[in-house]
Parts: sequence; structure tokens; C-alpha cells
Amino acid sequence: MELRFYGATGTTTGSCHLIRSEGRSVLLDCGLFQGRREESRKRNERFGFDPQTIDAVVLSHAHIDHSGKLPMLTRQGFAGQVHATRASRDLCAVLLADSAHIQLQDAEFMNRQRWRAARERGEAPPGRHLPRHEVQPLYLEEDVQELMPRMRSHEYGAWFEPLPGMRFRFRDAGHILGSAWVEAEIREKHGLSRLVFTGDYGRFHQPILRDPEPLSEADVLISESTYGNRKHPPFQDLEGELRAAVERLEKRGRGRLLIPAFAVGRTQNILYDFARLCRAGSCPNVRFVVDSPLATAATRIVYEHPECFDAEALAQYRTLQEENSFRSRLVFTHSVEESKALNDDPRPTVLISASGMMESGRILHHLAWNVSSPEAEILIVGYQAEHTLGRRLLEGASEVRIFGMMHRVRARVTPMLGFSAHADRDELLAALVPVAGRARALFLVHGENDQRAPLAEELRRSGFQRVEMPEGPERYRVP
Ligand SMILES: [Zn+2]
Repeated sequence: MELRFYGATGTTTGSCHLIRSEGRSVLLDCGLFQGRREESRKRNERFGFDPQTIDAVVLSHAHIDHSGKLPMLTRQGFAGQVHATRASRDLCAVLLADSAHIQLQDAEFMNRQRWRAARERGEAPPGRHLPRHEVQPLYLEEDVQELMPRMRSHEYGAWFEPLPGMRFRFRDAGHILGSAWVEAEIREKHGLSRLVFTGDYGRFHQPILRDPEPLSEADVLISESTYGNRKHPPFQDLEGELRAAVERLEKRGRGRLLIPAFAVGRTQNILYDFARLCRAGSCPNVRFVVDSPLATAATRIVYEHPECFDAEALAQYRTLQEENSFRSRLVFTHSVEESKALNDDPRPTVLISASGMMESGRILHHLAWNVSSPEAEILIVGYQAEHTLGRRLLEGASEVRIFGMMHRVRARVTPMLGFSAHADRDELLAALVPVAGRARALFLVHGENDQRAPLAEELRRSGFQRVEMPEGPERYRVP
């Protein structure tokens, strides 16, 4: 068997790993690189392999950095099937359509920028004609429609055989709805090899989802390492902090608690915590609004997949059908008009909106409206990459630029960064070390080098005989 890593090597996006064995080629994930527009574009433009040579894709979960290039794969001639859990397939339908829309916007933006630069050099023709087709979107919504019927869904734990002699099954990863780690058995002339791919390995005691299942023994392991050198605070503390922020809003009796949140996962976890608060009898006297079409769609999908819930979420799901102390305070906006109307509503409101790093989406309008108000509080509940508005607020900027206008920051900014859906260092070690015995090789992907290198050291000390940190698509023969 031969492995090559086409993304998430020394970074946390672009997950895409190729297994080749006796003429069969299977991709594990097919994700987009995410980051600065121009750089991402360059890295996303090519696959590094011929999509027509891929026989099947096995998808760990729906996050765009794992699934976002699937429509491009189809567009460029991939003719096989994509295998995923049922919930991942449903999430992909909305996330990939949204991604197609972003690809189009990005291409238009880059075309405008190029045109402006050409005009400054005196090279563009006079007038307002844009060179429309200079940068093409990576894919279009019709490519997503072409892809979706080829997505095959599978239950957790059920083996499936996408190619003769190669069988796979999904196991609970506890990361987001539908997420899985992947177990594979690959039959070759000289015998059977087992492979385990962690995908994004989640956390114990996460709201809604079942805990990650312990990894199986395997000859070859591919593991994520996002937080290979960091320790998260426990979830219980975070729930207390969330409650305290809502109580501050209730006490003020006006203003906003703004929560910029990723549409999938974080939004639903926060809603779940609020629902739990109400169920425990301490429902605060404020309104809860989700103002993001994508988050609303994702919340509906979560609701449609109770087969992914843990026991507590299942019980809560059943009571939610009957009582409505939280639901009567919860509003999902749909139109832009409804979103704008929120600005004129004086009631104290918890407002959850995307994007999580405050770079796009409706949250920007709410920030522009509220960031200078001492009656507003901004809760930062997710990772904020460099050069984002979220990062500047997190670092205590006294002024920020939103839609080209400078705003004084008078709102309270509260960081709550422990909500991560990735296992931390100790959780990764607890998952990996027990399977060190059989492993002939372990590949660390999906982590910056300052996270995966210390983890690699620790894993070698803990009994792994071969730990690799792929830098690019070099070829590895295993086991
Ligand atoms: Zn993920």
C-alpha cells in the first residue's frame, strides 16, 4: 500500500489523503485549504493528482476543510462514489452549496482587484468593464448538484466495500454531527492490512454528540494533531461562563450579547446549553435569535439526526417536543429585512450569527451597529485566525474597521476559547497510545508544526516505532 498526503500537512485545512493499493485508489477526505484569499486560491486550484484516477472517496465529516473540494473533483472528471455517514451527506448538501456561492464571490472579488491593479498600471481599457472571466470560480452550484446523487450514506459501525478487497466503516468521532473516524481493511497479495484515519477526533462530554469511540488497533494510523500541544479547559466551566454572560445581559435589561459562531457545531452547542438552562428552571428573561441562514439550515439538520445524539441529548430532544419554555424565546430570522429589523428592537437579545471569525456574513452588520455601545457584549467562542476582525477584537483593539468605517470599541469583549471540538493533547494521547503496539507507522496530519512536533515526540516516547510528519505529497510505502 502507498500513501500520499495532498493537504493538511503542517496546516489544519485541506484534508486530502490518497491510498493506492494494487491498482485501486481511494481518497480519504477532499477538503479546501482555507486562509487568505489569494494564497488559498493558489493552493486550491490544483489537486496534485488526476481526479479521473480516483476510484472512490471516503469522507470523515462535512466540514469544508474536509469536503470542500468534492464538487471540484467531480467537475474535473472523478466518476466514482463518495461514502459518508447520513448526517454528513445532509450537511454537505447545504455546506457545499454555500461554498459554491463563496467561490463565485471570491472569483468576482479577485477579478475586480486585478482590474483595479491593471487600471493603476494604465493597462485596463477605460470604462467600467471588468475582465469577467479572468479568475474562474473553483466550482459552481451545478457541480454540487452533480455530486450529491453520488454520495452514498452508511450507518456507524456498518462495513461497506467501495472497491473489491477494500472495506471501510465509520466510527463515532464526537467532533461534529455525522463525524467519524475511519477504519479500513485492505486486502493485498501478501495479506490483509488495517488502517485507521482519525478524521477530526472530537472530545468527551461535548454537548449533543456521543463521545468518540476508542480507536482500533491498526498497522497504519493517520491522526490529526490540531491541538497536539495544548490543553483545553473542561466544558463545565464554559457553561458557567456562558450563563454569566446571559445574566449580565438580563441585568442590563437592554443591549446585545453578540455571539459570532460557526454555523455547524458551535451554534447548536450554544443553543443546546441555553435550552438546558431553561429546562433547569433558570430561563433568563431575554430573547435568543439565530441570524444566519446557514446556521439555521444546519440546526434543522441536527434536529433531523437524533441517531447521532448521546443519551442526554435524546432525552432533551423528547422533552423539547413537549415543553417550550426555550423555544418560545428562540427566533430564527430568514430574510435580510428581518435581520435589519433586529437593530431597532430594544429588547435584550442574545444574537448568534456567522461567520465565526467575523470576516463575512450578517454578524458584520451587527458588529458595526453594536461594537461602540457599552450595552453590548461580544462573546468570542471560537478560534480566531491571524488577520481577522475577530483576532483584533480578541487582542483588545480600541478601534476596528468594519465595511471601511472605523468604530471605537466600547462593547465588552469576552473570550471563551475552550469550546473546541477537537481533542487536546491529553485526549489525543489517550486515544493513540493504547494502539501503539500493532502500529507499524503513524502519520501526523492536520496540525501546525508547533502542535504536531511535540505530539510526535511524546508518541515516540510512548511506544510508536515510526511517527511521520508529512510535509507534502511525498510517497510513503506502508506498512
Ligand atoms: Zn472538522
